[in-house]
Amino acid sequence: LFISFEGIDGSGKSTQARLLAETLRTLGHTVLLTREPGGSAGAEEIRRLVLEGDPDRWSPETEILLFTAARRDHLEKTINPALARGDIVITDRFADSTRMYQGIRHGTGADLRAMVDALHSLMINVEPDLTLLIDIDADLGHARAVSRAGAEQRFEDMGRDLQARLRDGFLTLARSAPRIHVINGAATPDQVAQTVLQTVQFRL
Ligand code: C5P
Repeated sequence: LFISFEGIDGSGKSTQARLLAETLRTLGHTVLLTREPGGSAGAEEIRRLVLEGDPDRWSPETEILLFTAARRDHLEKTINPALARGDIVITDRFADSTRMYQGIRHGTGADLRAMVDALHSLMINVEPDLTLLIDIDADLGHARAVSRAGAEQRFEDMGRDLQARLRDGFLTLARSAPRIHVINGAATPDQVAQTVLQTVQFRL
């Protein structure tokens, strides 16, 4: 079973991915918890290339290539071997994040989203069995991300408006993909974890 968590920054998806992994292990499952960008040695190197340093280093198009390359390595080295062993794989972000962050972050004019989709079908062509979209108000997500990151400029730059567009984008995506379940991320972490577990147990 291949599960992804998605959501805007500050949605609590990383906490929920970790809690789900812990609970499923307690229930006796073998679980691989991983994340994107990253999740394999090569993909973690690409993560550093993309997320650290000058944010204008890469063009939007090159950024799509780098994220797709990272995902390909993550699939080959980490996800596919674990699924072949019969593990439950939980990833904190997968291709939906690229559809949103690289696909609509710079607006819709340049047709970046079409490039994301084309590269996905060519090089990845895998979707999770189940995607848990932890949905949260953009202001709350932004405030959480800023307070967690401290002075980290990336989040300040990203701004509240982008968070709102990303949230809308995720919700629109969820309406067209039955694998995506929208979970209210405004509840307490324990309540969210309960809902997540119920959703996953339907599939076990
Ligand atoms: O999920 P996590 O907080 O680790 O993501 C780190 C950052 O990477 C996000 O805040 C987002 O700005 C960025 N990101 C991105 N494109 C992706 C995934 C993440 O720009 N496809």
